[in-house]
Amino acid sequence: MKAVISLLLFASAGFACAMPNQNLTKQERDVIWGKGTEAPFSGKYNDFFKDGIYVCKVCGAPLYPSEAKFRSGCGWPSFDDAFPRAVGRLPDPDGERTEIVCARCGAHLGHVFKGEKMTPKNIRHCVNSVSMDFIPAERIGRAYLAGGCFWGVEELMRRVKGVISCVSGYCGGRIENPSYSQVCNGNTGHLECVEVLFDTSKVSYGDILRAFFEIHDFTQRDGQGPDKGEQYKSAVFYCSPSQKAEAEKIIAGLRKMGYDVATRLEKFEKFYRAEDYHQRYYEMSGKRPYCHARRKIFD
Ligand SMILES: [Zn+2]
Repeated sequence: MKAVISLLLFASAGFACAMPNQNLTKQERDVIWGKGTEAPFSGKYNDFFKDGIYVCKVCGAPLYPSEAKFRSGCGWPSFDDAFPRAVGRLPDPDGERTEIVCARCGAHLGHVFKGEKMTPKNIRHCVNSVSMDFIPAERIGRAYLAGGCFWGVEELMRRVKGVISCVSGYCGGRIENPSYSQVCNGNTGHLECVEVLFDTSKVSYGDILRAFFEIHDFTQRDGQGPDKGEQYKSAVFYCSPSQKAEAEKIIAGLRKMGYDVATRLEKFEKFYRAEDYHQRYYEMSGKRPYCHARRKIFD
């Protein structure tokens, strides 16, 4: 499962838009909003080394992959890397240390220390257990969805309940590591695609697919909206026979409703993460999706 939760896949991960957790305990509030510190060796993730990802206790944004966690002996969960742009840094009021917070919601996490030479990366994020939740690898589902410009698909799929992260990239082509300009030329065979990681205890693959069909025009055959070309076509890249069967069932249902479905079903082979400036494009630019909007199709 390491590959599922690798830093590469999560590079510039889009953040889930879960509702903020309003049910914090007093200790959680004291640490998260009061910038407190839990007692050393007391936190549930201090001596905890399962595969998975650590997310913000308040907003659910992915913070740290389990492979970045190491035994520092300091008494708090320690990481030598975070997901890109997941963790914000602020000068601590003590004038010496650097505070770390969830970049999305500002929840206090702990402090970051450099130069201790504990790992080759030479950095230690010292994080309170109560600032985080953990999603085990076996609960993380994956979906690869192409529905036109990945900016919009990423933005709208991120809003689906239970989605952990969305990453824009390319699937289905004939060359390794394609660039955006190569894909735009339309002759590499790649489609703009979004990798959706989701918490299978909160949302099913079928629900992820139904949301996907509701956010794009799956009857358009030459692209999506004004974006015409091979790379903008609609497709589901299935990762298993059960995902394929689920997609076939939903498409059959749509045909029964009278839709002329253009969406292709293809076996997932490889996902290439797109360039940084494509990740969380709408969130970073403040613009709004121009050819994706959610409309209700399924009951
Ligand atoms: Zn947060």
